[in-house]
Amino acid sequence: MSRFWSPVVHGLTPYVPGEQPKLANLVKLNTNENPYPPSPRVLEAIRAELGDDADRLKLYPDPTGAQLKAAVARHFDVAPEWVFVGNSSDEVLAHTFHALLKHDAPLLFPDISYSFYPVYCGLYGINFEAVPLDEHFAIRVDDYLSRGADQVGGVIFPNPNAPTGRLLELDEIARLAEGLPDSPIVIDEAYVDFGGLDTIPTAVALVKRYPNVLVTQTLSKSRSLAGLRTGFAIGQPELIEALTRVKDSFNSYPLDRLALVGASAALDDEAYFEQTRRQVIASRDTLSEDLATLGFEVLPSAANFVFARHPAHDAAALAAALRERSIIVRHFKAPRIDQFLRITVGTDAQCALLIQALKAILA
Ligand SMILES: *Cc1c(COP(=O)(O)O)cnc(C)c1O
Repeated sequence: MSRFWSPVVHGLTPYVPGEQPKLANLVKLNTNENPYPPSPRVLEAIRAELGDDADRLKLYPDPTGAQLKAAVARHFDVAPEWVFVGNSSDEVLAHTFHALLKHDAPLLFPDISYSFYPVYCGLYGINFEAVPLDEHFAIRVDDYLSRGADQVGGVIFPNPNAPTGRLLELDEIARLAEGLPDSPIVIDEAYVDFGGLDTIPTAVALVKRYPNVLVTQTLSKSRSLAGLRTGFAIGQPELIEALTRVKDSFNSYPLDRLALVGASAALDDEAYFEQTRRQVIASRDTLSEDLATLGFEVLPSAANFVFARHPAHDAAALAAALRERSIIVRHFKAPRIDQFLRITVGTDAQCALLIQALKAILA
């Protein structure tokens, strides 16, 4: 507390990210990073941008991020005017809350969801209501539709949801968008690239049909670029313009030169993307089976993490015991989920170390 603080600062409850301990030989399964390095083309692009003397760094980057917008547009087969880019999807989400989700009627999101959402509501003074997931931790679209179209300021949820990993089918999202035509519907697709082998269940497919749907994605998970901080949104130009207006009232150059070229190169390397996301999906399915064999109840995951509980072992105690063995996973001290662990899918070798450690702990 300080008398120098603006009044809004006194009321903030900031988000607490998963820890990044500086320990050697850690098996780090706590923040859903990709276990594989980014595409080699990312490094090539960054090296080329730097040149021999980094001379270009004296110049501001492109304030519109046109190169990255074009790469996103190519990947999704939309026009660049339908794309917004930002310094991480957290930043894109922050602008989305500010630009599209603050209305008189409350914003709705699931009671178990990305814990940054209530933080943005606190920062921007947005009235919200948490809508309970069903007993299997699934989103029930009817719970949102039954509010009445004029009683909903907007809807946001991750798909697949975090930290549950559960996927809502696209036709259910379409039903939501259609039933609430006057509310912005934001689908936070941080993990969607792990949601299907032959088709990725992205709601970008719905954006052309529904002017109220905005999709956000990040390069942090499926493109192994959490450290580069790049994310984007796709929606009809009216929604994109709202984000651009907020961004241009906040920071003209949120993406630096290295991020713009690196992220564009990652999006253009489709073969590498397919290879690594398929590997993570395969490892996830093995990890889920191995955890079930140890007696865990594992929610069906469409993400690069699994959410699991053991009927006979306290989750916080398990997390602490794993930590003693240099394996870190995420545990949330929150209602309904405090007996679950969220475990990031690592390499097969990391997953094997986890299973081996759990066997020893459970014995
Ligand atoms: C990781 C994550 C993000 C943020 O990704 P960044 O681009 O790294 O900020 C957004 N939403 C959800 C649900 C996430 O899990």
